[in-house]
Amino acid sequence: MSIRKKLLIMDTILIFVLIFISVYLMTYVSTISQNEILKEDLIQSVLNISNTLVDENGNIDIAADINYHNDDIYIAVYKKTDDGEYFITGELPSDSSTPSFKNGDIKEVDGYIYYDYYINISSRNTTYIIRGIKCNTTSINTMLIVVALIILPLLTIASIFISFFIFKNALSPITKLTEEVNYISSTTDITKHINIGSKDITIKSLEESFNQMLDRLNEMFKSEEELTSDISHELRTPLAVILGEGEYALECDDNDERIESLKIILKETNKMIHITNELLEFQRMKNHDSIILEKNDVSYILNEMLIPINDKNIKLIKNIEENVCFDINETLFIEMIQNLLDNAVKYGKENGTITLTLKNNIITVSDDGIGISEEDQQKIFMRFYQVDKSRSNKNSLGLGLSFVSEIARLHKATITVRSKLGLGSKFIIDFNKH
Ligand code: ADP
Repeated sequence: MSIRKKLLIMDTILIFVLIFISVYLMTYVSTISQNEILKEDLIQSVLNISNTLVDENGNIDIAADINYHNDDIYIAVYKKTDDGEYFITGELPSDSSTPSFKNGDIKEVDGYIYYDYYINISSRNTTYIIRGIKCNTTSINTMLIVVALIILPLLTIASIFISFFIFKNALSPITKLTEEVNYISSTTDITKHINIGSKDITIKSLEESFNQMLDRLNEMFKSEEELTSDISHELRTPLAVILGEGEYALECDDNDERIESLKIILKETNKMIHITNELLEFQRMKNHDSIILEKNDVSYILNEMLIPINDKNIKLIKNIEENVCFDINETLFIEMIQNLLDNAVKYGKENGTITLTLKNNIITVSDDGIGISEEDQQKIFMRFYQVDKSRSNKNSLGLGLSFVSEIARLHKATITVRSKLGLGSKFIIDFNKH
């Protein structure tokens, strides 16, 4: 069942119940107030009769000419004795009973309301009871019921129609949204964004969530595409070499040359394995949104780090604030810093100096090596980008810095580079936002 139908049914039931409850309450309140009026009338009539019967000297005149029956109210006078109460005068409804007497008491018995009022006549040493009786005519307001019976179905039908249009209008953005999503998924063009122009906050945030999801999917597809293209691009050269050397080895008669070709084939195959492993590792990391971070003594980890053995006589100087702890993934963190230190050695100058510092949650790795031009500084973090292949060693793939920037991203840290050609480079990782 559609949401619209469900809402419509719920709304109709709700309105029906509300109208029913209001009619019931109105009837109940009207009955109570009618009853109160009846009682007040009765008391007033009894008091009037008692005033007429008893004169200012306190004597009672039972024989007085009094109308004991007026407007559904009957008055009867009783004399109270030790043996009971005796009817003296007045009028009683033909079918009324004689419930027990009590001064000031008002009670309802068999459809009649009774009110007793005692008068003590001290001169006669007698107590008279004036009893008022009124038929309890309070009834459910039939007019109200009739009106309710006509109005109840009419209001319910009207509410169904009104609700139908309200819900249709309210749910139309969702219908539009569904159409847009269906359209996008049918075209497979996920670069599109959803915009149905609704001003409703809920719809807008739903739209935003959809668009964020599309962006994320788009990014993932793009990254997969890039990976495929990178793999084919990077593997093309070693494959061409393997093919050429293989053909040559087959045709060649010289055993030494054949062995040489096989060695080259082996070397290129190893290179291909290295490339695919590195790429898969990189992709695995890129597809991570988060990694497990734990509080670590970063100062201690940095103090333990070394530069690779090199023949350039490069020195490592450390300026590290003591006892600095923050959340890191130790393995990836070490891989990131080690990559920067390796590069600093690779592109450092003979007898040069590398400085590793930690201050205010900022780590810097600087060298006084060949430096990077401003134009290349924009590109060095891209996958496979190498400023000058001849300057990198044979195992270099141009993946190191893209690894470093991915690891920084996963730590929610930022990485920047400052460099001047011929003067050196400084890589800055800022952990303050993480
Ligand atoms: P590679 O495997 O080529 O070192 P990287 O991704 O680590 O790949 O670096 C990309 C490029 O950035 C390198 O080819 C190099 O030209 C340049 N580069 C990286 N670090 C430094 C540095 N400390 N000094 C000068 N150039 C650097």
